[in-house]
Amino acid sequence: MARDADINAMIAGIDLRRELGASDAFKDLHKSEVMPGNLSRSDMVKLVRQSTTTYCHPTRTCKMGIDDESVVAPELRVYGIENIRIADASIMPNVTSGNTNAPSVMIGEKSAELLQQAR
Ligand SMILES: Cc1cc2nc3c(=O)[nH]c(=O)nc-3n(C[C@H](O)[C@H](O)[C@H](O)COP(=O)(O)OP(=O)(O)OC[C@H]3O[C@@H](n4cnc5c(N)ncnc54)[C@H](O)[C@@H]3O)c2cc1C
Repeated sequence: MARDADINAMIAGIDLRRELGASDAFKDLHKSEVMPGNLSRSDMVKLVRQSTTTYCHPTRTCKMGIDDESVVAPELRVYGIENIRIADASIMPNVTSGNTNAPSVMIGEKSAELLQQAR
């Protein structure tokens, strides 16, 4: 995490959660704060850098479609290459608005169906 704005946003999020955790509404649910405790700004920055990770959903790197940008045809064949089909999240034309695992499984199921039909 290189940008100050990102680090500041993460620290603001941690501060807000600590504030909520310390509020009366939650006081009966826990005994005390486990982490991060009272850290200096520089230790908090270190904590954020060490304990955060991206939560990316990499998709669309070889999108399916019929336009010039498309790598994969609707029946999952790769344009210009014989005997290969792609069946994973990379063919999604756009990143789905929900989670990506179920659509990935559906792409796999559709691929199996297409392969059976092609026999
Ligand atoms: C941290 C994290 C959390 C996630 N949480 C969720 C969630 O809660 N809900 C949800 O719906 N989605 C979630 N996802 C997204 C979901 O896991 C992916 O969108 C989905 O698994 C993508 O499927 P895929 O088949 O495209 O790729 P992958 O599941 O990554 O499968 C690719 C496969 O190809 C193999 N491979 C790679 N290179 C080669 C090679 N050269 N030769 C042979 N095999 C190779 C890999 O080992 C792997 O098994 C999460 C993703 C991440 C990273």
